[in-house]
Amino acid sequence: MKQTPLEKKVLDNFKPGKISKDGFLGYDTRHIHDIIKEDLLTLSRMGVEVEIIADRLQHFIEEGKKGLETKVDLGDFTVQIAWDRGLLPCPFGEPRLHHKIIATLYNKKLDKEIKYSQLNVHMIREHGFFEGKASRFRLEPEDLFEVLEIKNT
Ligand SMILES: [Zn+2]
Repeated sequence: MKQTPLEKKVLDNFKPGKISKDGFLGYDTRHIHDIIKEDLLTLSRMGVEVEIIADRLQHFIEEGKKGLETKVDLGDFTVQIAWDRGLLPCPFGEPRLHHKIIATLYNKKLDKEIKYSQLNVHMIREHGFFEGKASRFRLEPEDLFEVLEIKNT
């Protein structure tokens, strides 16, 4: 996972209206690095690597794509993706664009749903970033662990 110091210009990308209408931080006023550090600590306590979570999230996006934009039944889960036109940059600023895909994943047994974007998967995998508290697409590591049914080995 890359850990690059964030410059002021890059930090602006996380604010509302820059890349995403709602921004990536919610009411969270902590530095991005502190948000990342805390979530990675939570993950290490659970014994899970970011790659495991990102792989699982990506798996469900790929399954969702097969249904185009209709709901796909996967037995214990259903997944539905919405795919908007255009591409999004990552707020961390590297020159790479991401599809505007949003997945709604429902875990039938738990009766719990999570919603996440393709950009979320990228940010988790490459930056260890789950977004700030109460941001629209904030993903709690504990929720992901539970809903994705990740077994630590
Ligand atoms: Zn990135």
